[in-house]
Amino acid sequence: MSTVLVTGSAGFIGTHLSEHYLKLGVNVIGLDNYLTGSQSNTDYLKKQYPERFIFIEQDASDTFPAIVEKIKYVFHLASPASVKSFQKFPLETLKVNSVGLQNAIRFADAHNSRLIFASTSEIYGSPLKSPQNENDWGQVNSFGERSCYDEAKRFGEALIFSANKVNSTTHGLVRIFNTYGPRMFENDDRVPMTFVKNALNNQDLTVYGNGLQTRSFCYIDDLIRGLTLYADSRLTTPVNLGSDNEITVLRLAEKVLKITNSKSKIIFAELPQDDPPQRKPDLQTAKEELNYEPTTGLTDGLQNLANWLKLTH
Ligand code: NAD
Repeated sequence: MSTVLVTGSAGFIGTHLSEHYLKLGVNVIGLDNYLTGSQSNTDYLKKQYPERFIFIEQDASDTFPAIVEKIKYVFHLASPASVKSFQKFPLETLKVNSVGLQNAIRFADAHNSRLIFASTSEIYGSPLKSPQNENDWGQVNSFGERSCYDEAKRFGEALIFSANKVNSTTHGLVRIFNTYGPRMFENDDRVPMTFVKNALNNQDLTVYGNGLQTRSFCYIDDLIRGLTLYADSRLTTPVNLGSDNEITVLRLAEKVLKITNSKSKIIFAELPQDDPPQRKPDLQTAKEELNYEPTTGLTDGLQNLANWLKLTH
């Protein structure tokens, strides 16, 4: 019986990832300080898997506790992730992706285990071409509203590269593109959740700018499959994970209204600073190296999210 450690286990992706391993019979140690996460996610995992889910409430930027078990993988997911939360906690965001990641690497090294860092499509900034390929270096504003997140993740990538070089380790990282699904937090302003929630409540759907900026939304189950395939590989180089089904934000709003059969209106507001104009992953590496292919269509995924919201309210 093996064990994995997941930092950020009380968050959206962390809860799904933990549950994926728990369902396989793997023990999971979750670590989270509830900066943006939810105690109800921890309670859920503890209730479903009382024997095999252990939770440590602590800041990942503090030294990790001593654990005697053999740890197969360490997933470092702890970080504010939505624009709203990283702008509310910019210093914490910088710290957990630098000091926190360093702690997680030290812990992984002490256990002879492989660490996977959750990087992001935001490292590409305002991309010069689309789709974004792992070899693109990105065009990022280092001094602005989003730089605490974008630069923290870029630093994290550099830390993984350098740690592997100096210590001959095999840690890796994935660049996650917009992911959505059940257990997303309702109030952190991520587009699919906000649109579906507002549509179900017959409230306006706010589209920023002219709505022609694009995103590619990946359903959580597809992302978890990619993440675990990456962990099982020996790859240490970045791999994009997400969906390459690109859609404008305006079209997404229209789709959500149709799926939920909502009477809500679409309204327009000013585009925020550094809002990326285009997001679409080049998934060639993921396909070739991991045999990864997203399989959940946007209509089905949004329907699942709407059903989950209705069930939990
Ligand atoms: P989330 O906000 O739902 O979860 C993050 C979790 O990390 C929360 O439970 C929070 O309390 C915890 N956390 C934050 N700082 C911490 C600290 N110092 N110590 C311990 N715990 C801490 O976010 P998510 O969507 O689940 O994202 C998980 C990871 O994936 C993040 O690193 C994020 O940057 C990355 N990512 C997510 C997406 C996406 O679309 N969801 C896209 C790109 C990258």
